[in-house]
Amino acid sequence: MDEEARLAELRRYRILDTDPEPQFDRVADIAKRQFGVPIALVAFMDAERNFLKARGSLPFSDSPRDISFCGHTILDDAPTVVRDTLEDERFRESPLVHDGPKVRFYAGAPLVMPSGHRIGTVCLIDTKPREFSEDDAERLQDLASIVVDHLHMRYIVGDVHEEIETRRAAEAEAHRLAFFDALTGLPNRAALQTAMADGLPFGGKDGLAALFFDIDDFKAVNDALGHQAGDALLKRIAESLRRSVGERGLVARISGDEFVVFVDARRPEQVERWAKRLLAEIGRPLAANGVTAQVGASIGLAFGPDKADPGQLLTQADLALQHAKRHQRGRCVTFSADMAASVRRRRRVGQDLDRAMAAGEIDLAFQPIVRAGDGGLIGVEALARWRHPELGPLSPLEFIGIAEETGQIVELGRYILRRALAAGRGWPDLFVSVNLSSVQFQSTELVGEIDAALAESGFPPRRLELELTESFLLGSVDLAKSQIDALHARGVSIALDDFGTGYSSLSYLRRLPFDKVKIDRSFVTNVGGDPHSLAIVQCITGLARQLGMRVTAEGIETEAQAVLLAAAGCGTFQGYHFGKPMPAAAIGELVAARPRLAAAG
Ligand code: C2E
Ligand code: MG
Ligand code: MG
Repeated sequence: MDEEARLAELRRYRILDTDPEPQFDRVADIAKRQFGVPIALVAFMDAERNFLKARGSLPFSDSPRDISFCGHTILDDAPTVVRDTLEDERFRESPLVHDGPKVRFYAGAPLVMPSGHRIGTVCLIDTKPREFSEDDAERLQDLASIVVDHLHMRYIVGDVHEEIETRRAAEAEAHRLAFFDALTGLPNRAALQTAMADGLPFGGKDGLAALFFDIDDFKAVNDALGHQAGDALLKRIAESLRRSVGERGLVARISGDEFVVFVDARRPEQVERWAKRLLAEIGRPLAANGVTAQVGASIGLAFGPDKADPGQLLTQADLALQHAKRHQRGRCVTFSADMAASVRRRRRVGQDLDRAMAAGEIDLAFQPIVRAGDGGLIGVEALARWRHPELGPLSPLEFIGIAEETGQIVELGRYILRRALAAGRGWPDLFVSVNLSSVQFQSTELVGEIDAALAESGFPPRRLELELTESFLLGSVDLAKSQIDALHARGVSIALDDFGTGYSSLSYLRRLPFDKVKIDRSFVTNVGGDPHSLAIVQCITGLARQLGMRVTAEGIETEAQAVLLAAAGCGTFQGYHFGKPMPAAAIGELVAARPRLAAAG
């Protein structure tokens, strides 16, 4: 038979060079006693050597194959019997006969595996010649069968065992992938949910704290520093959380830049201090690819008693985080009950918004904009008003902010624009200014929307002004420029609203072709008392004049303010001193009451 296949079969049983084992020793022992021989062996025939698995008291475990008797035994299915080695010309000269064990008698039965391969022997050795009957040969063969059965059994069990092990390892790996985040090695959202359902794996005897952690503007970090740096930052944060929480809590990464921590909270102040330190650590400047960035994060915290429901605590921490993001970015905020109320209210407002539009509950007020010189009415700003049937009048700052978050701003913006243009048609020499949310402004559909609204109302584009706040500048300047150009091409003008409050940099005035700047009310209010405010206003009007932009001062409440601002170079005014936001009909009356003037702006 093919020797290579035989060797492969032998290897399958993984028996070579293993230590003695009782099962094999016992067979050798039985053989010794049954046949009354001094030596009985269980041996396996490797390529070049005979490996003695059970060898009794023999001082060696290997013998060379070429001189071994077993080398003959494995050539035949029937036992090999040599009653006297000196009488057998195959062995007469063998060193085993003359030296070492001085073998005179040998009987060996092959280990014939189920595949038919003979991989070894059970054999008897004596130092004197012996008789060996057919019957003896059969009994020896029986002992060999016991060894074969044992080997085979071991193999099958081992195989099954191995299969189980492999499957177990695969399952463990699948579990790892399903429950641990590949980047940071932290438990993931699924693991967190499981842990929360099964009871948190640490003994919160004194109270429980949930911490919800979110990197501010993580996308910007990735954009500025590259994804590798972003990944490194996440790993650093994960490591720092893991290190400081240790066994006292649970850390999980539940989405790209969000981490959740549950910890023992014996002393809430201690947890708060820790959270603040964490923010300070994250806030260290981060450098990559030759760029340095300051990364911020916000944290929401919630505390509960030891038996607190972790799910509820996590919801509270999330509410606190939302509060931080909205009002105290970069801070650590602890949950309080009014946050839940505020979130409920926001949700309510968002839910009611569609119905309010359909029912015409949202209306527009118009505030006069006048010429500085003679106070003549030249335009109006449309301001959204919502008198909620149960919540009462809502500030546009509130419901527009919510609509921006939910995406309803697109629909609401369309609604406001159409109503403003419909009303404005009745005031042929006034311009109508409409506020645009930055979400609307960044949409590529904006220009199409405005075309449609203009076409539908028949309102002349030249009388339409759109107000943008500086927040839109967070988007791309190139996109802003192309939107403004497209609107200019239609004759629509663009005002920069609330100038001086946000990210304002005078350089934006140079980079984008605004038609008008509206100076924020905060400067106007201070202009009488604070020389800085006056200086800033003068600076803005000076630059605007250079760039060919008009300037409106917002929020003028007194005659004194009007005088100062006129002197500082503001051409148009808006504020309670000249008229509060009012219904369209009231503007209609103002228009009717005044002498006709040419449209101005
Ligand atoms: P804004 O565009 O700067 O509008 C001017 C705000 O100042 C209005 O508040 C107006 O009522 C108020 N105001 C005007 N003159 C005076 C004054 O002399 N004194 C004081 N104390 N306030 C004055 P309002 O109507 O509450 O609107 C607040 C903000 O909400 C607006 O600021 C604008 O950013 C936003 N908004 C209002 N309507 C809309 C809208 O239709 N669309 C969008 N996207 N935003 C809107
Ligand atoms: Mg405005
Ligand atoms: Mg404004």
